[in-house]
Amino acid sequence: MQTIDPQPPTKSSPLRILIAGGGIGGLAAALALARTGAEVRVFEKRANPNEDGAGIQIGPNGTRILQSLGLADHLKSKVTAPKALYVHDGPMGVRVAELPLGDWLAERHGAPYWVAHRADLHAALSSAVDAHPLIEFRHGIEIEGTETYTDEVLARSGGQLVGAGDLLIAADGLRSTLRQSLFDARRPRYSGKSAARTVISIEQIPGGISQESVGIWLAPKGHVVHYPVRGGRELAIVVIRNDLAIDEGWASAVNHEWVKDAVQNFAAPVRNLIAASDSWRKWALFELPPLKTWTADRIVLLGDAAHPVLPFLAQGAVLALEDALTLARCLSDCETVRKALRSYQTQRCRRAQTVQAASRRNGKTYHLDGPMRQARNMTLTVSPPKRIMASYDWLYGWRPSV
Ligand SMILES: Cc1cc2nc3c(=O)[nH]c(=O)nc-3n(C[C@H](O)[C@H](O)[C@H](O)COP(=O)(O)OP(=O)(O)OC[C@H]3O[C@@H](n4cnc5c(N)ncnc54)[C@H](O)[C@@H]3O)c2cc1C
Repeated sequence: MQTIDPQPPTKSSPLRILIAGGGIGGLAAALALARTGAEVRVFEKRANPNEDGAGIQIGPNGTRILQSLGLADHLKSKVTAPKALYVHDGPMGVRVAELPLGDWLAERHGAPYWVAHRADLHAALSSAVDAHPLIEFRHGIEIEGTETYTDEVLARSGGQLVGAGDLLIAADGLRSTLRQSLFDARRPRYSGKSAARTVISIEQIPGGISQESVGIWLAPKGHVVHYPVRGGRELAIVVIRNDLAIDEGWASAVNHEWVKDAVQNFAAPVRNLIAASDSWRKWALFELPPLKTWTADRIVLLGDAAHPVLPFLAQGAVLALEDALTLARCLSDCETVRKALRSYQTQRCRRAQTVQAASRRNGKTYHLDGPMRQARNMTLTVSPPKRIMASYDWLYGWRPSV
């Protein structure tokens, strides 16, 4: 790669942005940038990028961004704003905390806590992108190589030039090939845990399981999370457990026994919930040590490509949304692309590392055993629920500093 000194576009020439990856981060970045007047081309390697995934939780730090991107109306019938997060000890079947979400959290942070199907969130972003005159969204194109010159960056796929721009955003996810070829060749490290997901209809929900709120059931070697999706018509269920097998994809088929085995010591409502579906998909949970840099001349990393996060704080998609908004603001406010990228990296690196660490800590707390498990349950039982939720103000109250 050549060393360059990126210059800002002039008022008469809008910034031209290439984005590799049409996931949640890539599409949010496209929208945020197009709203500043940039011309954006998104390349997604999948022909049907939105078919996969199950539930996604979006804290107020993410819903505020979705609202600012004009997606609230589109998502209205697809999301639920759950009233509370019910925390249980899984094997004992006892509720140890009832933490307020709903109106209380929405008023505290000026934006709601939503739960949704990943496909619905992706579809909302996708249709907003398709409708925007400054964005071109091309499916079935995998960016395999880049070339950086003084005045532009080129993107190649299958040996062909597919785009030229002032900046290329690598939003190509956990296994980012652009990160590995341009920034850091290390591969993400398997955490030793995998997750399985399914979705059931509301009529299939067994007794003892909340239809409207988020439920989490903790146990020493794994946990179960469930919440309504599709506007409350379905329930997404995720089971996380220790696992030796490492799956590379997001949707490997998984034997029902794998899931049943994970909850064999759980109370009856959870076992009944797991028995309600025999169609599960599994993905392995990975971590990546912090990168030295996220930016190189005219290329910048965003979302999971820069900072994959374990799902124990439900912030993977939200961090990508925060990245998208921050990068758009930096590019619009700074005099040069170089300054913008420096500001983006400074703001986002520390934030992502803080969230990654908090998520890892949560996972450890969820899976405590013995006296520590009892101490956790006792702390959750006696602590004022609003005080517990207020301890996440740093997370949900995030706003860009530019
Ligand atoms: C299919 C799928 C299902 C998922 N399911 C869940 C789930 O159920 N629960 C959960 O918590 N999280 C899930 N995630 C992860 C979650 O969506 C992300 O962690 C989060 O939203 C961060 O988004 P991102 O845009 O950085 O990465 P991603 O959402 O992973 O998006 C990256 C996109 O880049 C595309 N891509 C990769 N390489 C290239 C390339 N070279 N050129 C062009 N395009 C490329 C990928 O196909 C993908 O669409 C899923 C991700 C995917 C891709």
